[in-house]
Amino acid sequence: MLEPRFATGDPADFVIIGSGAAGGVLAKELATGGFDVVVLEQGPYLRAGDFRHDELAYIFNQELTGGWEGKSPQTFRKTGKDKAALKDLPPPAIYARLVGGSSVHFTGNYWRFHDVDFKERSLLGPIAGTGFADWPIDYAELEPYYTKVDWEVGVSGAAGPFDPRRSRPYPLPPLPVKSSGVLLERGAKKLGLHAFPAPMAVLSEPFNGRAPCAHCGYCMGFGCEMGAKSSSLAAMIPLAEASGRCEIRPECTAFRLDTDAKGRVSRVVYWDEKGREQAQQARAVVLSANGAETPRLMLASTSSRHPDGLANSSGKVGKYLMYNGWTAAYGLFEHPLNDYKSVQVTRIIHDFYDSDPKRGFYGGGGIDARPGLQATPMFFALAGLPRDAPRWGSEYKRMLSEYFTRSMEVNGHTTSLPLESNSVSLDPDVKDLRGRPALRFTYKDHPDDMAAMHFMQERSKDILEAAGAQRIWDLPVEESTITAHLLGTCRMGDDPAESVVDRYHRSHDVPNLFICDGSSLVTSGRGQPTMTIQALAFRAADHIKAFAKRGEI
Ligand SMILES: Cc1cc2nc3c(=O)[nH]c(=O)nc-3n(C[C@H](O)[C@H](O)[C@H](O)COP(=O)(O)OP(=O)(O)OC[C@H]3O[C@@H](n4cnc5c(N)ncnc54)[C@H](O)[C@@H]3O)c2cc1C
Repeated sequence: MLEPRFATGDPADFVIIGSGAAGGVLAKELATGGFDVVVLEQGPYLRAGDFRHDELAYIFNQELTGGWEGKSPQTFRKTGKDKAALKDLPPPAIYARLVGGSSVHFTGNYWRFHDVDFKERSLLGPIAGTGFADWPIDYAELEPYYTKVDWEVGVSGAAGPFDPRRSRPYPLPPLPVKSSGVLLERGAKKLGLHAFPAPMAVLSEPFNGRAPCAHCGYCMGFGCEMGAKSSSLAAMIPLAEASGRCEIRPECTAFRLDTDAKGRVSRVVYWDEKGREQAQQARAVVLSANGAETPRLMLASTSSRHPDGLANSSGKVGKYLMYNGWTAAYGLFEHPLNDYKSVQVTRIIHDFYDSDPKRGFYGGGGIDARPGLQATPMFFALAGLPRDAPRWGSEYKRMLSEYFTRSMEVNGHTTSLPLESNSVSLDPDVKDLRGRPALRFTYKDHPDDMAAMHFMQERSKDILEAAGAQRIWDLPVEESTITAHLLGTCRMGDDPAESVVDRYHRSHDVPNLFICDGSSLVTSGRGQPTMTIQALAFRAADHIKAFAKRGEI
């Protein structure tokens, strides 16, 4: 494989910060489009063969996601009036730090947004106290790029009854249905609902020289040693490197973007793998460090021209953070399900996707069935049983052996409204090991978000009951304090006073700064944002290439 090395003093056509879901797509598209690309990635470059079935390492010792204790702390508060407290395990935001980013350890549920997601504000009207807004683009504009994700990244599935229009079928058939999927279908049918095969960013058959899923079960929270999970690491980075124009620079943490006298970004300053300060000159920069780290970098990059942070004349950098709501209900069944094998999810329900004014609140979502904590038996032993189960002794052991094989989880994934008060900012008191202000999360769900979660949890229990569960229990719905979804913090829009990037992901203030990752989203969708993040990245790349070719950057 060709591995170009670019000198830090020579301006690269593009420096991309972050190699995750969005950064991987942009690296591949820009490098194969004929541009020289340097990707700065703070995490290590692991290969498929490096991943292990090691629950202790990945789930408990956070080998892929770690780095916050001491090194990179995070603080949390509910409102701007509270003092943020340092939060250790679990941290407020869980994301992976390695080449491929969080696409390496994610579940791979790959739902497209629907038409309504892009224009709900117009359809439903304003919601007081929120920044609820339409997107500047619509589903039709993004559809070709969703199809690109299907066919270039690799998505398995079959069209569902509520799906928006698609220009091409899935490239791969759905993964085999599991017990939880069969039971979800059974419950749904009894209630007049429509369960359908889950679109998954996991290969059901050989595809583009990659092997299909071996159904080992070490999927959510783990890297895939088959390369069957369609992470940026497996699907995009090899193509970017094969172009001969892309250098992946792992263990390099960007901490500041410098601008020149004209206010354009001129270089990215970073710590290399030995902790030395370096600066990569750039003709243009693409920020794809995720919905927390991207605004952090911008807020940290102050100058006389950008006193409130880079490209932050709107004051919206870091604002409108959206998490997506999440609920869990559990059912115990008569026969063994052995659901811990294979991918997490094989069937989903979108009957409650749209917001329905009759419910009395804004919001909707999707439902899926999965083994949940069974996929990590040590976690199951700690938290998999109902709350009133004993925590030691022979009854605990009996219940563990009974519930581990015979229970399943039904999750609700819901909307979060964009609130200006929910944000990522720099903590004024807590610093990381290198002296950078820690990431501070301020987050309180809107009452409608809470109502949507309660609603979806009740529907999940109805389904479990209809499916024949002998016992049903739940995780109480509580205000969100942690998340794996970091959305909306550099939102896209036509109005420079209300948004950070324009419809082409160019920052309103700095012409050679593009931002494309979870931070670009205007609304949260119904969970599973990554299909949309990658479709946006394919679309952004097309526009950025066109701008560059026309000399408009
Ligand atoms: C356990 C888990 C399961 C999930 N399951 C699903 C799912 O089923 N479906 C779904 O849609 N989504 C899922 N997600 C969410 C999904 O992983 C994210 O939405 C997605 O990866 C975000 O893409 P991104 O490009 O914004 O950021 P990321 O993929 O997080 O990539 C950002 C990259 O930037 C790097 N970086 C950050 N700061 C710097 C810096 N200063 N210098 C250099 N590099 C930097 C990071 O190390 C990382 O590699 C899951 C997440 C988790 C944690």
